[in-house]
Amino acid sequence: MQKKILVIEDETAIREMIVFALESEDYKVVGVENGQSAKQAMAGFTPDLMIIDWMLPGVSGLELVRGFRRSAPTRTKPIIMLTARSEENDRVDGLDSGADDYITKPFSTRELLSRISALLRRADAFESTMQPLQAGEILLDPASHVLTICGKPASPGPTEYKLLLFLMQHPNRVYSRGQLLDYVWGENIYIEERTVDVHVLRLRKLLKQFNVDHMLQTVRGTGYRFSVGSEQQK
Ligand code: CA
Repeated sequence: MQKKILVIEDETAIREMIVFALESEDYKVVGVENGQSAKQAMAGFTPDLMIIDWMLPGVSGLELVRGFRRSAPTRTKPIIMLTARSEENDRVDGLDSGADDYITKPFSTRELLSRISALLRRADAFESTMQPLQAGEILLDPASHVLTICGKPASPGPTEYKLLLFLMQHPNRVYSRGQLLDYVWGENIYIEERTVDVHVLRLRKLLKQFNVDHMLQTVRGTGYRFSVGSEQQK
């Protein structure tokens, strides 16, 4: 799908250069010169990414970033700030306000394009991890952290929640205890592999309350598998 990008930059030459470069890469682009025009443009246009100049007439780029972070449609959308400033403090202010990346003028369009595609890839990955998951009677909504089994709310512990989320995202595959430690607990964390068994047991106990514990299977000598579908291998 064609990605939409909003460019807010008051310097016409720079704005036009960016719009031209982005359109050549097949992005759908709207370029405006200030926050006021951005608001009007966004009445019919929700960008997938925003490029915002720091020094703008009227409302500053920094203020715009803060505003976009408070507004639901743009809360999680990547923002790149453009600036002539290059001091470390400004950079920190920009990133603190909610910008994802920061490019100092003058910059090459190639540099800008590569930052854009990296941010869009990251945003896509984030969106896909936020999609509600379903496995049989188990429903898990990562956006709200709500777990529903057989139509009833269930309250797993934080680790059981993370474990179930991972398993539902990667069903029908066998994972060793070591792999689960890496993926669920994170790499470079020293925990005994037995810990995995403890949490699998707790999760299974929770699933058993709803009679769906058969989905969380022990694969002897290998590890664990979350099985979805009709085939209930043991
Ligand atoms: Ca400017």
